[in-house]
Amino acid sequence: MKHTIVVPRRIKIGPFSYDIKLVRGLRYYNGASGHITFEGGTVELDDVVREPMKSCHFLHEMVHAIDINASVGLDEDGVDRMANGFAELLQQLGIKLDYSALPCGRSHGGN
Ligand SMILES: [Zn+2]
Repeated sequence: MKHTIVVPRRIKIGPFSYDIKLVRGLRYYNGASGHITFEGGTVELDDVVREPMKSCHFLHEMVHAIDINASVGLDEDGVDRMANGFAELLQQLGIKLDYSALPCGRSHGGN
């Protein structure tokens, strides 16, 4: 049985809130298909990327947010491995993420 979870426009991790949005072609002018700005509290995902990669990118940025909040100290490879593990877990549980509620707009820039 499949379950669909709608990704909300805003996610709070500890005291920090992140506005989640889609950006068409983000990879072409940012060099990555997802990124998070901690100061601005934004997570951007390339709208063009399809599943299951889109969820890998989303989970990657969320692991960054969790890592910062919990002061875990993961490096980029560690973030990737954790995100891929969460992606696999969701898949095994039959959970599909739905990005249709997210706004699609322009990038704020950042890393
Ligand atoms: Zn990263």
